[in-house]
Amino acid sequence: MSSHVTDTQTLEREPAFYEAFRAELRAFMQGHCPSDLRAKVRNGHKMGRAEYSQWQRILFDQGWAAPGWPQAYGGTGWDLQQRYIFEEVSAEMDCPPLYHHGLGHIGPVIMHFGTPEQKARFLPRIVDGSQWWCQGYSEPGSGSDLASLKTSAVRVGDHYVVNGQKIWTSHAQEADIMYTLVRTSQEARKQQGITLLAIELDTPGIEVRPIHTIDHWHHVNEVFLRDVKVPVDNRIGEEGTGWKYGKFLLDRERLSPATVPRLIRQLDEVDRLVRQRLREQGPSPSLMRALERLFLAKASAQGAREMLLSAIGEEIRGTLQSSKASALKLHSSELAQAISSLAFDLSAPELARRLLPDDESAMVCDDQDRERQLVHTYLFYRSRSIAGGTSEVQKNVIARELFGA
Ligand SMILES: Cc1cc2nc3c(=O)[nH]c(=O)nc-3n(C[C@H](O)[C@H](O)[C@H](O)COP(=O)(O)OP(=O)(O)OC[C@H]3O[C@@H](n4cnc5c(N)ncnc54)[C@H](O)[C@@H]3O)c2cc1C
Repeated sequence: MSSHVTDTQTLEREPAFYEAFRAELRAFMQGHCPSDLRAKVRNGHKMGRAEYSQWQRILFDQGWAAPGWPQAYGGTGWDLQQRYIFEEVSAEMDCPPLYHHGLGHIGPVIMHFGTPEQKARFLPRIVDGSQWWCQGYSEPGSGSDLASLKTSAVRVGDHYVVNGQKIWTSHAQEADIMYTLVRTSQEARKQQGITLLAIELDTPGIEVRPIHTIDHWHHVNEVFLRDVKVPVDNRIGEEGTGWKYGKFLLDRERLSPATVPRLIRQLDEVDRLVRQRLREQGPSPSLMRALERLFLAKASAQGAREMLLSAIGEEIRGTLQSSKASALKLHSSELAQAISSLAFDLSAPELARRLLPDDESAMVCDDQDRERQLVHTYLFYRSRSIAGGTSEVQKNVIARELFGA
């Protein structure tokens, strides 16, 4: 992995400062990130609240829990290079990524559009990891066409009464609170009349039902809301302008700073695998084809890295365009699938053929079982081009912004 982040940037400080910073991060992560957590990350285990929170708490005690946030809200105030170096070193040291729904998604929305009371109530608990958020956007029939959402919220005095259903809600089974898009009025233009509410998941009338995905993991859910009373104080921003906040959030969701360094880390592993196969088996047409796929993925990873740095810079300057966030999401989804497909083809085709049928017991694997983890990752990464908005939807966003299509 490249250790420099400066080729497309103007350094804000001397290179020696960043090298010392990198060394400080490495030493800290080496000394403080528990070895069992690092083994889980290295072996491609799925992360849940227990793992994310453990690491979040350690970073919080160090003052590093919110690398992208201003210091006024408990963030580090790090510059662009420092933020990227943090992500690179976290990936390199196999530390868990930061849980994104609070820090990356709703936190910035509350900072920009929340009331002072909401900032004081929600932001500290996102930073210390004690309140766990999930995202209630998608509904049956309203995924790509999110603005058609039907979950209704009717104002009655000092609260809203919410009825409807959300689906694919990641981590809802272990979350405390869900940022939720609801319809508060029926306007001619469906983007109007949408409102953003923070709904505490222990409120009466909420039922969370599990969905098991192709990799037999349970992290997505259906969330049913029946006459759920939500205080008006939990409305973020103005009533009827939730679409604006929802889009602001989606741009940040599509710009996940952790993604690219972690893909580059996986690519390094696949690189080792290809070279090992070449040493063991000698060149063959299939291995030469694998080498070609590896080189293409490496070039694509370089592109993703440059795009990410440029997008983070724009976000810091407040000029981030939706098309850039969408282009990055599209590019990194394709890259993730290319890397996991290559690893899968190289390593586990026989095993995969045995595991792919619906044999749940065969999908349970321990830390040592690297090949099974590869199959899990391959299957899970099929969702990369769907979750957070499908690749087709990203192309539509890019086309609309660039060409007015
Ligand atoms: C693993 C995973 C986690 C998720 N987590 C969450 C979460 O935490 N919270 C949440 O709210 N949602 C979540 N989602 C939902 C996700 O955002 C939706 O699945 C996604 O937006 C697609 O919506 P849909 O499933 O309704 O498919 P549809 O919108 O029905 O799309 C079906 C197909 O039609 C294509 N299509 C649709 N419209 C167009 C168009 N205009 N032009 C071209 N092609 C089009 C799509 O690209 C897709 O291929 C998650 C999904 C997955 C798979």
